[in-house]
Amino acid sequence: MNDSEVTVPPIVASNNTAKQLASSETIGFPGVASQVTAERLVASEFMASPSQSVLNDMISRFIDASSNEALKTTACGSCARETSLAECEEIALKDIPNKHHLIPHSPHAAHELVNGLLIYPAALGASKETMHLCDGCRNHLKKDV
Ligand SMILES: [Zn+2]
Repeated sequence: MNDSEVTVPPIVASNNTAKQLASSETIGFPGVASQVTAERLVASEFMASPSQSVLNDMISRFIDASSNEALKTTACGSCARETSLAECEEIALKDIPNKHHLIPHSPHAAHELVNGLLIYPAALGASKETMHLCDGCRNHLKKDV
């Protein structure tokens, strides 16, 4: 065998992927396939346009995923990042896990503390008893590291 020759096993069409092809028929690689085989592949279900119900479902899911409700954001009280509302939890200040991590080590005159905690004010709820906490901060606070 010559070093420049590469033996590639043929791709065999199964009955599931190309109904019009016989199961024992081989499909070559691009540029190698016979003209008849390539035409059969193009005409098969593989290259067919999606049905109208599939298109409607995809459009519906796109509209749902890009709605104002789905794209709402809020600030995290711990890291102050603007985060998707779906990735945040509104939590009572008394229920924040290991909240001692939110007490500043070096107090500063510009700090606005809430119950002794340094919390981003925009993340506070209307009652000032709750705040939004992103999933990442919640996990870090739970780990107590
Ligand atoms: Zn956060």
